[in-house]
Amino acid sequence: MTHSEIKEKMIWAGKVLVNEGQDDFTRGHISVRLPDNPSLFFMKCHSVGMDEITQDNILTIDLEGNVVAGTSRRHSEVYIHSEIFKVRPDVHCILHTHPVYSIAWSGGGRPLKAISQPAALFHNAIGIYTDTINLIRSHAMGAGVARALGPHSVVMLKNHGIVTAAPTVEEVVIRTIMFENAAQIQLIAEAAGDIAPEFPRDDIEKLKHDISRPDQFVVNFDYLVRRAKRRQD
Ligand SMILES: [Zn+2]
Repeated sequence: MTHSEIKEKMIWAGKVLVNEGQDDFTRGHISVRLPDNPSLFFMKCHSVGMDEITQDNILTIDLEGNVVAGTSRRHSEVYIHSEIFKVRPDVHCILHTHPVYSIAWSGGGRPLKAISQPAALFHNAIGIYTDTINLIRSHAMGAGVARALGPHSVVMLKNHGIVTAAPTVEEVVIRTIMFENAAQIQLIAEAAGDIAPEFPRDDIEKLKHDISRPDQFVVNFDYLVRRAKRRQD
């Protein structure tokens, strides 16, 4: 993909995320590693909504968090991205948002249960960051988030938000939306009363495997982009 094509995908990811309620004013940010230079990444800038990302306001940033191209203001939480990219060569896209149900779940101290199909995607595969409710504004704090993420694709920042890291834009966007769906279903189920036992581990792991296939993320992301384009017409 060319740099322009990557930025175009970030632009549409932002619009999809706002349509899915993943926005919190101008907070939240997405980044994509440059395929021709893995020590640099593109990142959404500060002061605009995720549906206001443009070819011109995307910044190019290095693994120390320094802006190397672009004139927009940088998010102070850049270290979430730079520190994960440093230690996870398999990760090429990172997304941080403040989804309501996920945050509500993160404060409860209960494990995410595989009581829905979206929850199965994250079965025994979530990191939890509990150092602070504050913004991740230093190398050390970013490294703490990367440590809490470990080998997983999702780390919940307790009482703050979610960070999703994956090989593609499609995967981070769909995983983030599915995590929010899983958290919403669990909160409703727990409020309704006692939850029946989960299905056997093998049954859950089979579904997890099937819905983790890369093409599943692409098909569903592409659908949400088509829907966002229809809404814009
Ligand atoms: Zn945040």
